[in-house]
Amino acid sequence: MYFSEQMYARQGALSAKRAEQGRILIIEDSRSVSSLMRHRLEKDFFCQVTQCASADVFRDIIRRGDPFDVAVVDLNLPGASDGEVLDAVIAEGIPAVVFTADFNRDLRDRLLQKGVADYHVKNNENAIDMVVSSVLRLLGNRDVGVLVVDDVPSARSMLADLLRVQKFQVYEAATGYQALDILARQPHIELVITDYHMPDMDGYELTRRIRREHNSDRLRIIGISSSADRLLSASFLKGGANDFVYRPYVVEELQCRIQHNIETLAQLRQLRVAAFSDYLTGLPNRRYFFDEGPAQVAGRLERREACCIAMLDIDHFKKLNDTYGHEIGDRVLQAVGAKLARRLEGSGHLLARLGGEEFSVLMLGLDVEAGAALCETLRADIESLRVALDDQDLNVTISIGLAEIAGRESFSNYLAAADQLLYLAKSYGRNRVYSETMLS
Ligand code: GH3
Ligand code: MG
Ligand code: MG
Repeated sequence: MYFSEQMYARQGALSAKRAEQGRILIIEDSRSVSSLMRHRLEKDFFCQVTQCASADVFRDIIRRGDPFDVAVVDLNLPGASDGEVLDAVIAEGIPAVVFTADFNRDLRDRLLQKGVADYHVKNNENAIDMVVSSVLRLLGNRDVGVLVVDDVPSARSMLADLLRVQKFQVYEAATGYQALDILARQPHIELVITDYHMPDMDGYELTRRIRREHNSDRLRIIGISSSADRLLSASFLKGGANDFVYRPYVVEELQCRIQHNIETLAQLRQLRVAAFSDYLTGLPNRRYFFDEGPAQVAGRLERREACCIAMLDIDHFKKLNDTYGHEIGDRVLQAVGAKLARRLEGSGHLLARLGGEEFSVLMLGLDVEAGAALCETLRADIESLRVALDDQDLNVTISIGLAEIAGRESFSNYLAAADQLLYLAKSYGRNRVYSETMLS
């Protein structure tokens, strides 16, 4: 993982990542349907899939005690033609996605009553894709916090139960102030669903207050009310809510609205990650470095902790490009980036590719001596790195300039200081570290 913990805490993991390593049980007697689903879940989404074609096999699997994150359940199976297996799946506490050929309104009511997470009908060519999406959604929801705000306990718990079936991490608040308090303490909450009529603060006021601190690109708000006032939805939306639902709601409609909001956040997150990554190496890019670096430095200076900043530049890279071509140059850049990232993984220091063959490391909590030792390790790492070509191995060296970050200056000034020291490292012969302490 190249990005800092802070970034992941702020950005959250990508939704594709969230789905990784889900353990899925497919209970389905049609081999072709079952294998198609398995293939997609394993190949595209790295899930672990167990197939099961009858009630007997299901019982064996449950007896073994294997844990599952989601089950896809056919209602009509050899040895259990009336949904008995579904009841057993739900009794085991495994979230169930029903996939059935026969469907009617009455069955739909019974399925919701039982607490199935989702259902799909085998009546179109997209049905398998829809089941796969439901499974991925449930896996992703496990990391998402949702806050339900309602002063009426029964209404609140009805909604909370519905969200728990969808595998969200659910928080409940009975008042607006309680909601603000929970929100401040739980940064992984991505959605607030709030009632309108509440004693201390109405839902509209709560929405406005939440929006002072949390933008719509990180936190979604859905208003909900049994009021007959048709203007309520407009005022909620104008106050910063993303959606509004009147009670009584249709469960599936509310689920879809919730899910669309969660998906929008995931898409925005992906865009942010893309905007902050360097396309060639996957490292944080210059923009991220300049966005994140100053705040990190300010925090450290406030706590009187040392930090320093290193500029790294590959030696004679132009010659390498001229000799072997740009594509090989790219491969060397990727290998150098990966090597640096591996060495710095988990260190809390911030590594970025600033552009071309220049990298930088913001070393947090290190004084210039410790920083110089780390730079020396990085230099030696790259010196010993071999990039395999078809008929030979390539190797490169880097020069490093290391500057101490002491007083408050602009971030680009810190970097400029490191750049000047890098220039000295180059002029003294390259493949070396040059720091301020060496000036005297
Ligand atoms: P020095 O040791 O003084 O740093 O010499 P140098 O040749 O490494 O430095 P210079 O700045 O003259 O050349 C950098 C080269 O890096 C020029 C440019 O073609 C190449 N370069 C910049 N970005 C990329 C890239 O994304 N891929 C490849 N393959 N080359 C790049
Ligand atoms: Mg260079
Ligand atoms: Mg250069």
